[in-house]
Amino acid sequence: MTSAGRPARRLGPLRVVHLYPDLLNVYGDAGNVRTIVVRAEQRGIEVELSAVRAGASAVPPADILLIGGGQDREQMTVARELERLGPAIRERISEGASLLAVCGGYQNLGWSYRTAADTTIAGPGILDIRTEAGHTRLVGSVVAGLTDLPNGRPPRPTLIGFENHAGRTYLGPTGRPLAIVEIGHGNNGVDGTEGVIGLPGDDGLPGLRIGTYLHGPLLPRNPHIADALIAAGLGRGGPAVTLASLDDTDEWLAHDRFAARCRARKRRDERLPTWLRRIIDPARSLIGF
Ligand code: GLN
Repeated sequence: MTSAGRPARRLGPLRVVHLYPDLLNVYGDAGNVRTIVVRAEQRGIEVELSAVRAGASAVPPADILLIGGGQDREQMTVARELERLGPAIRERISEGASLLAVCGGYQNLGWSYRTAADTTIAGPGILDIRTEAGHTRLVGSVVAGLTDLPNGRPPRPTLIGFENHAGRTYLGPTGRPLAIVEIGHGNNGVDGTEGVIGLPGDDGLPGLRIGTYLHGPLLPRNPHIADALIAAGLGRGGPAVTLASLDDTDEWLAHDRFAARCRARKRRDERLPTWLRRIIDPARSLIGF
């Protein structure tokens, strides 16, 4: 029953579409799909889960679209697929679907990605970014301060996760950073931004769009992002729906502990002599610690 005494509108079904799980799915990215499904079902919202794989000729109706990360080779294949289905993905977002794009998928949905092999692959420009592969990989744990999320102040102002990418991503004129890096590299290791967020209405598109370099998977320890995607997706281009709150004690404990561990290590590192830092950092990048 709503506060106004009207019976709460039955939410759902939530139509979740996983883009190219057969090509882009590293560091547990498929766990983002699982998180969306579990958080919807815990609220009694029915979920319809489907996938778009290589060779698909259409994108089914959707409330949430998710795409993961992967290697340059698979991204080349996805780029060819997007030549055909890029407009259909944009169509779903113009109908109000939310989007979560992680690392390689994030790069593929921008305007262009110049790979380490110096091949430039064009993208559908659904996210206002462009990416160029660097000569070193940006690897490690990330803690970043969120810039903007729909539905007011989230329970935590931070985003946490793990990054491993050669690509350096630059925001375009309408690109709004998802977060500002506190610990880690983020989009390009220089301008302090992490990810991109398109709020409903930005660039004339009603769907919420989130691009990020964070693996982990991202959503289990960042439930505020999962709920923003679900609420906006169920709003179907209108105002985001109000979701019943869940007991996220464990999720926030994992979030807070990760952030605290990263901050403690940063303080410890800052006390190390520079010559030692110069040895440790590259070693960490190599072993992804
Ligand atoms: N291949 C891309 C890069 O190296 C994306 C990597 C990923 O998805 N983890 O930047």
